[in-house]
Amino acid sequence: MKAPELPIVKGVVHCPICTHSVPADVQYVGKRAKVVPGQKCARCHSALDAAALLYLQLAA
Ligand SMILES: [Zn+2]
Repeated sequence: MKAPELPIVKGVVHCPICTHSVPADVQYVGKRAKVVPGQKCARCHSALDAAALLYLQLAA
């Protein structure tokens, strides 16, 4: 059996490097949301793998 596609939504995360809130793609894994790996901060271009999720942009 193949794993189902995980839904990706837009969210806002807290960059640990520049301490700004930046938009990023967030992926649901079960009931938990986590930052999609491999993204870069829009401000400082650091990897957002360790960024903390602030909230999701649920509006389309
Ligand atoms: Zn940053």
